[in-house]
Amino acid sequence: MAPGDNKVVVIGSGVGGAGCAALLVGKGFEVTLLERNDFPGGKGASFERDGFVYDTGVHAVGNGEKGPLGEINRIVDGDLEWALIEGGNRIALGDKVAHYPLDFASDDSIRSLIDGIGVRPGNEEDCFICFKELATIKPASEMEILDRMRLKDYVDQFTDDPNFHLMLNSTCGMLIVLTYYQGSAGEFIQCFAKMAENASLSYPRGGMGSVAKAYLDAFERMGGTLEYERPVEGIIVEDGRVMGVEARGRIPADIVVSDAGLQPTVKMVGDHLSREYVDWAMSLKSSYGAASVKYALDEEIVPYPLTLWMPDLSDPEAAAKYVGVFYPVPSIPDPELVPEGCQLVLAGAVLPADPKLKDLNRQVLDRIEVTMSMLHPGIDDHVVWKLRTGTDYVAQISGRDLGEVIGLAQDFQQVGKDRPNPRMPIDRLYLVGADAGGRGIGTEMAGDSALNVSTMIEDDAFGRDKGLGI
Ligand SMILES: Cc1cc2nc3c(=O)[nH]c(=O)nc-3n(C[C@H](O)[C@H](O)[C@H](O)COP(=O)(O)OP(=O)(O)OC[C@H]3O[C@@H](n4cnc5c(N)ncnc54)[C@H](O)[C@@H]3O)c2cc1C
Repeated sequence: MAPGDNKVVVIGSGVGGAGCAALLVGKGFEVTLLERNDFPGGKGASFERDGFVYDTGVHAVGNGEKGPLGEINRIVDGDLEWALIEGGNRIALGDKVAHYPLDFASDDSIRSLIDGIGVRPGNEEDCFICFKELATIKPASEMEILDRMRLKDYVDQFTDDPNFHLMLNSTCGMLIVLTYYQGSAGEFIQCFAKMAENASLSYPRGGMGSVAKAYLDAFERMGGTLEYERPVEGIIVEDGRVMGVEARGRIPADIVVSDAGLQPTVKMVGDHLSREYVDWAMSLKSSYGAASVKYALDEEIVPYPLTLWMPDLSDPEAAAKYVGVFYPVPSIPDPELVPEGCQLVLAGAVLPADPKLKDLNRQVLDRIEVTMSMLHPGIDDHVVWKLRTGTDYVAQISGRDLGEVIGLAQDFQQVGKDRPNPRMPIDRLYLVGADAGGRGIGTEMAGDSALNVSTMIEDDAFGRDKGLGI
């Protein structure tokens, strides 16, 4: 790439696309960002209804200020602010409740957690050692092996305690939205150990949408061009090199960066990719999807800022009636999201990402409501409005065929060296976002990707490091 080839088109304003676009403008590139929606943020957007600000998803950010989203904000001089989610976070297995303080990996916290979830007498020490290992960052040489190991197999090496396994399986579902039979031990440890180290689980003030908005405000302030309702229909390639995009007319570019996801990007490129690459890209699996019920309440009903609740699976009646729910209450860390005295509860449950499974979505949404009514009697008497969203809503908002929560699955065959390379096999075409170039939890993986991919593009443009750059 020659110096001076600096006209960039970024496709999509999710956390990954918005972050990368702002970072590239800051590095001196001339950037146009095209977004198909009429709002920013993709899966990480927020909306306002009757004075309540709610998210598309069910969001909490693993490392807040200390993670990649905070880092981007500092680099681009954005106005993003964070509220810590602390004081009462819980994981509950049926009626057994364990508290998750921000420093959840201190010896005292681990012992109290193990006690709270009711591990079998005699198993405490093995569970303690396993938890401690999971919460410790590992050297790169060890990560290569752990990346290819299932989390369940990793935990099996320490203990067979059923409640400890159930807790880790549920935590895997919460962090990387896969079961621990599929989730990579390396990826889980990367997410879990970082959270343990930083102790800064947070919520972006003003809603999850504040993240992309802060990046895009900085982007426009630095001279970037942003267009909403401008869907990209195709990526123009000539002689193996990207030349621009088709978006109701041709927009020439030296470099194209896509936040639309690997598989949609492959479709936008069309015949210019080898059959082998297309088959491989299309064979990759996505994370599970989620259905969620957003409750706008006229009273503060739920006293905990964040809960992961699992039914007691040894009780057939409970297993048939209830569903595992993850429910942050963002108005506890950020009361300005709601009118005074009111509350916003976002309750989500995991299911396959296929938006065509309408009956399943309906059943899961019904079960979320039954579960929340059981856990917090009276919640239904205080509803100002309630919004039920399934995987079709997520698919529509992100512009993908599936309504997966994260992006490509962080399973034991798709992480680390086996994750797609952000440099696509077309000269000057890059992927950014949760599908490629980063590690971590959801929005933070997209942010980590933005940091890595913007550096990679700068390196390529100025003839520096030709390595992977991540
Ligand atoms: C229910 C739910 C709960 C979640 N909970 C959490 C959580 O607690 N913590 C967490 O960190 N993460 C969570 N996530 C995951 C997180 O939101 C995503 O992983 C992350 O936001 C993905 O960002 P992205 O930049 O990769 O892509 P996306 O958000 O998918 O953005 C892609 C953007 O590209 C645009 N686009 C697509 N195609 C085109 C095109 N052809 N032309 C122009 N624009 C296009 C889309 O409109 C969209 O704006 C959750 C997600 C969901 C759905």
